[in-house]
Amino acid sequence: MRTITIVGAGQAGLQLGIGLLDHGYDVTVVSNRTPDDIRAGKVMSSQCMFGSSLARERMLGLNLWDERCPPVEGIGFTVPDGEGGRAISWASRLDVPAQSVDQRVKIPAWMNEFELRGGKLDIMEAGIDDLESYARSSDLVLVAAGKGDVSKLFERDAERSTYDEPQRALALTYVAGMRPREEFSAVSFNLIPGVGEYFVFPALTTTGPCEIMVFEGVPGGPMDCWSDVRSPQQHLETSVRILEEFLPWEAERCGDLRLTDDNGVLAGRFPPTVRKPVGVLPSGSYVLGLADVVVLNDPITGQGSNNASKCAASYLSSILEHGDRPFDRAFMRETFERYWDYAQYVAGWTNALLAPPPSHALDLLGAANDHPRIARRFANGFDDPRDFFHWFMDPASAQSYLASIAA
Ligand SMILES: Cc1cc2nc3c(=O)[nH]c(=O)nc-3n(C[C@H](O)[C@H](O)[C@H](O)COP(=O)(O)OP(=O)(O)OC[C@H]3O[C@@H](n4cnc5c(N)ncnc54)[C@H](O)[C@@H]3O)c2cc1C
Repeated sequence: MRTITIVGAGQAGLQLGIGLLDHGYDVTVVSNRTPDDIRAGKVMSSQCMFGSSLARERMLGLNLWDERCPPVEGIGFTVPDGEGGRAISWASRLDVPAQSVDQRVKIPAWMNEFELRGGKLDIMEAGIDDLESYARSSDLVLVAAGKGDVSKLFERDAERSTYDEPQRALALTYVAGMRPREEFSAVSFNLIPGVGEYFVFPALTTTGPCEIMVFEGVPGGPMDCWSDVRSPQQHLETSVRILEEFLPWEAERCGDLRLTDDNGVLAGRFPPTVRKPVGVLPSGSYVLGLADVVVLNDPITGQGSNNASKCAASYLSSILEHGDRPFDRAFMRETFERYWDYAQYVAGWTNALLAPPPSHALDLLGAANDHPRIARRFANGFDDPRDFFHWFMDPASAQSYLASIAA
């Protein structure tokens, strides 16, 4: 039986760990927090999972909230006209509804499931000495510690990283009492040029169904306003104030708003970063980075948890196909490159949306007002952003796509 240790019990670490257990591997997952710590802690993400990520969870029997989690049935897209109205506004259904289960609900339940299926859970903040010790006792050590300090073991890949500074001031506000979107539920995405983005969608949190408000403020702009916020209530007031100022149609949904709980708020920022996949320990042993450790995207496109799921699935295939051969440096590089063959497109699309929108992108998003086919293609691209490279990412393909729609 091959022995595998995964440091980090998040979306990627647990999904891979459980997948490996199901194939007979001896798996240890290391977490710096107990299930209770996570359940009682602060929100970490908005974690909206699209169709193919949900399908993977169902395949592993990890879809524990299908009955209780409200579906996200579509994507809406709005650009204000600067005079209180909307220059662009459309919505389209997703082919497969998405779901967001608060990681404070999901991760403790998955930790429990991991142990029930025979996995070993070590609770500790793993440092370099611990990695050394796991490397001696395991055939393979993976690091799935997200933005944790231990991820710095992996060198930043300057060639593959587009930015070296945070591109948005981020904030999350988990609320109850918001008026539901009419017609169908959706990620209501608002792009305010020069100011930032706001999106909101239904989810399941520790207290039941809720809506998650996500703010992406351009640094130094009016939505980069969280540093003076001193209390959860003030965070909620700031959230509503932004909507009243820039997005009155979204503010109208907030008449009876309250926080789901005092830990339902988050503010921060980080630079999107690609790292080299192989970490070298002082002893010369190698460890392999997974998910956010190696490809960390800004949440503007809601891809991080989906990427974590896809990375875990890709690594699982690589490990299974490798059989009894040693998990050497070449295996680690190859395993990452297989995932990067996909992830580079997600990073490219996400990084492009962090820059001011080029005119061809605004033309396409505007044309979606009149052509539901375009809206539908944009909405469903969130499940597999590689499609954007065929019609959205450069002026020539945008033009020929628009011509084909008009024909
Ligand atoms: C504001 C915000 C909004 C987001 N919204 C979305 C969204 O809508 N859709 C989406 O798909 N993604 C979203 N994401 C991103 C998504 O949450 C992450 O990409 C995803 O959780 C990454 O999974 P992971 O398993 O790589 O890491 P994580 O989920 O970060 O898990 C890593 C785990 O490792 C633990 N750990 C860290 N260091 C150590 C250590 N030394 N020893 C032991 N354990 C350790 C951590 O405590 C954590 O539990 C959002 C992120 C943010 C910040």
